[in-house]
Amino acid sequence: MTQGIRPFSFTSPGALHLEWGSARRLGELMAGWFSQRRVLIVTDKFLHQAGLLDPAKASLAAHGFEVTVFDDVVADPPEALVQSATAAGHNARCDLVIGLGGGSSMDIAKLVAVMLVAEQPLAAMYGIGNVQGQRVPLLQVPTTAGTGSEVTNITILTTGETTKMGVVADQLYADRVLLDAELTTGLPAMATAATGIDAMVHAIEAYTSAHKKNPLSDAFAREALKLLTQNLVTACTDGGNRQAREAMLLGATLAGQAFANSPVAAVHALAYPLGGHYHLSHGLTNALMLGPVLRFNLPKAAPLYAELAEVVMGQQQGDTAARAQAFVAYMEALMDASGAPRRLRDVKVSQESLPMLAKDAMAQSRLLINNPVEVTEADALALYQQAF
Ligand SMILES: [Zn+2]
Repeated sequence: MTQGIRPFSFTSPGALHLEWGSARRLGELMAGWFSQRRVLIVTDKFLHQAGLLDPAKASLAAHGFEVTVFDDVVADPPEALVQSATAAGHNARCDLVIGLGGGSSMDIAKLVAVMLVAEQPLAAMYGIGNVQGQRVPLLQVPTTAGTGSEVTNITILTTGETTKMGVVADQLYADRVLLDAELTTGLPAMATAATGIDAMVHAIEAYTSAHKKNPLSDAFAREALKLLTQNLVTACTDGGNRQAREAMLLGATLAGQAFANSPVAAVHALAYPLGGHYHLSHGLTNALMLGPVLRFNLPKAAPLYAELAEVVMGQQQGDTAARAQAFVAYMEALMDASGAPRRLRDVKVSQESLPMLAKDAMAQSRLLINNPVEVTEADALALYQQAF
């Protein structure tokens, strides 16, 4: 008897719409999608003040929506933001939430959509599957191509000085996702590189994830990596390029769907302590750790890296080990070409802090268990030293 497909499940938002410039006709689209009319837009001050929301707001107003904007979202959002955004929504009797911005805005929007009708406190929602009841309708509109937050069911909040806690629940999947890459054209080259590399890491780590990798997450990861690798440099050097921006945004979303179902691993586990202690962006910290972790994983992941070599470079000559090495070299060269900083010392990480970072990385057991090769504290230290 031949072996069948290992059982798996794959979850995702209800619907996805990709259209260049579609935020300009957001009201028209929303009127067709939802019956509710009192919208809370969750975003950040920078986007709001830069006028990025103006066409969308005008279109919503023209189609009979009452719009309230909550623009206090910051990076690494503290849990108090959920409470204040919920209060803003309650005051205006909002019955519909739009998350518009980067990962933090969309993360907050997910929880606010739940909190607007919740009968349990936020503190009871932390963990996996602890959210009870439903939420108000939720649309997600990403303005960066990276986090994949628009298609995941997780929100990470900062609950202490550097401590973070997550809410993971199916209620956090949006009803709909709107991909309008025109919103991403103003993103500076360095932010484009960092967020794009984060998205590539999502695809690679989903493809090599130790336990939940499945045929659908593999398909999403492969297509994501193809789109992202082929368009990263153009998106960085020619920010207004529609084709590159659309490919990056779609690629980041597909990578998000891959890792929502087949979780990320050691690159992220080692990146988080760097972000926590040095306040470096999530994408940048992933870019710094990707090379060392890819090489570390080669003993186990080589067959999968060899498959990814074909995805990004086409048919390759040589044995599995050679093709896997070629994939690692390709990714390193691509990160060099993106202009992102490549060494920890370039971003002012001190050598003395590496043991502390390695110790902190061990706390990311929820991610480390997904790595194809086991990572000990000594391994983590060696990886930081390689990245230094
Ligand atoms: Zn990430």
